[in-house]
Amino acid sequence: MKILLVFDFDNTIIDDNSDTWIVQCAPEKKLPIELQDSYEKGFWTEFMGRVFKYLGDEGVREDEMKRAVTSMPFTLGMVELLNFVRKNEDKFDCIIISDSNSVFIDWVLEAAGFHDVFDKVFTNPAAFDSNGHLTVENYHAHSCSRCPKNLCKNVVLVEFIDKQSQQGVNYTRIVYIGDGGNDVCPVTFLKKSDVAMPRKGYTLQKTLSKMSQNLEPMESSVVVWSSGVEIISHLQFLIKE
Ligand SMILES: [Mg+2]
Ligand SMILES: [Zn+2]
Repeated sequence: MKILLVFDFDNTIIDDNSDTWIVQCAPEKKLPIELQDSYEKGFWTEFMGRVFKYLGDEGVREDEMKRAVTSMPFTLGMVELLNFVRKNEDKFDCIIISDSNSVFIDWVLEAAGFHDVFDKVFTNPAAFDSNGHLTVENYHAHSCSRCPKNLCKNVVLVEFIDKQSQQGVNYTRIVYIGDGGNDVCPVTFLKKSDVAMPRKGYTLQKTLSKMSQNLEPMESSVVVWSSGVEIISHLQFLIKE
């Protein structure tokens, strides 16, 4: 049985947020104030749809956006980590669950040659329309009250695990690597043998440490990381067990 590695994308695999990074393609590298102010909590995908439409209307072309997105730096030690996972593909299955979009993630994985490392990418589906506008849709609809309307990463993870299990694929444990507020929901549902790996100093880690101060129960172990190299060390420990 393998270990399932679940990766977040923004600020986890790459060292920035792709949705805010893309704003550098806008004239003067910023959005008009009305557009900036049009974000409503929980409706990020709709907001990004308006941002992409604005960029398209301003004549920002696909290749320009691709150049910007593929210039985002990888987080420290992530390239080493993904190479390690590839080398040990008999021990790991590996998925991404992200609130970015399919076009950005494809570009980054393709440019760095990491497509083969991931068995599946779950994210908001995006595509360029005939006007050259990037369009993005909600990944799914769900009824989790803790998560933004377009994506509950826990629902995605549970559905994936169930589907794999129906096909006879079960995992010894889940290792969840992330940084953000929308990683809290899946992490709190992890089981005793699983490992939550929050990025040091980011929202997920801060939230988990507050929860433990408040003695809120969580079953999984928690291993904080700053570099992908530290994640490699922990994975080496887990596969030796
Ligand atoms: Mg993130
Ligand atoms: Zn949720």
